[in-house]
Amino acid sequence: MYTLIDTHTHLYDKSFDSDRDEVIRRALCAGVKRIITVSENMEDGRRNLELADRHPELLAAAGLYPVYADPAAAGEMIEFIRKNRDRLAAIGEVGLDYRKAEDPEERDTQQNILKQFVALSLELDLPLNVHSRSAGRHVVALLLEKGAKKVQLHAFDGKAGAAFPAVEAGFFFSIPPSVVRSRQKQKLVRQLPLSSILVETDSPVLGPDPEKRNEPANCTAALEMIASLKNIDPKQAAETIYENTLRLYGSI
Ligand SMILES: [Zn+2]
Repeated sequence: MYTLIDTHTHLYDKSFDSDRDEVIRRALCAGVKRIITVSENMEDGRRNLELADRHPELLAAAGLYPVYADPAAAGEMIEFIRKNRDRLAAIGEVGLDYRKAEDPEERDTQQNILKQFVALSLELDLPLNVHSRSAGRHVVALLLEKGAKKVQLHAFDGKAGAAFPAVEAGFFFSIPPSVVRSRQKQKLVRQLPLSSILVETDSPVLGPDPEKRNEPANCTAALEMIASLKNIDPKQAAETIYENTLRLYGSI
């Protein structure tokens, strides 16, 4: 069996309300010993803290999804993170989403907010769990410009060329189970060094089957695909990925 950490999920999601205990049990049985649950807004952030209190396997993160970029909401979230710093494993998800924001002013707002979260990450020494959509190159440039240190780029949809400066800076890339059906993700995995790779599920989405609810136990599907793309033994891949995760998150 593997030992893995699911570094990006939305376990507060209502789709887990009826069987969350079962979902966590299945994850443990699959070797997924810790699950990071990120937030999109304040309500999810609070919910994550409650869930993490109840389930020792869950680690809470709090952040503002870029699609909801609003300076007042960001200010509130920053206060919330400062206040709960010791109960949080990461700041996330935060980032840039240019697919939903075509208006330059909206993109500017997203960038300004992300810059504040980078500063907060440095102030509190918490990793950033970063979303980017149609903005891979931009997100990497902003993180480098602002001197971000602990970074996880989740479900990165950019090209490997956009990823290389992030690899050089010591940032990590988390790969979801949708890698089994995404040529873009397969290409990315082939080009990234294994030392920069983490696994995630983004549950309830990005599963191996797009029609089915995704869950943390499916980390193994991502792991096995990564091992096959890298032509290495999955057990060995799991060990390296686990060590990578501890390098970013410390002993969680
Ligand atoms: Zn997510």
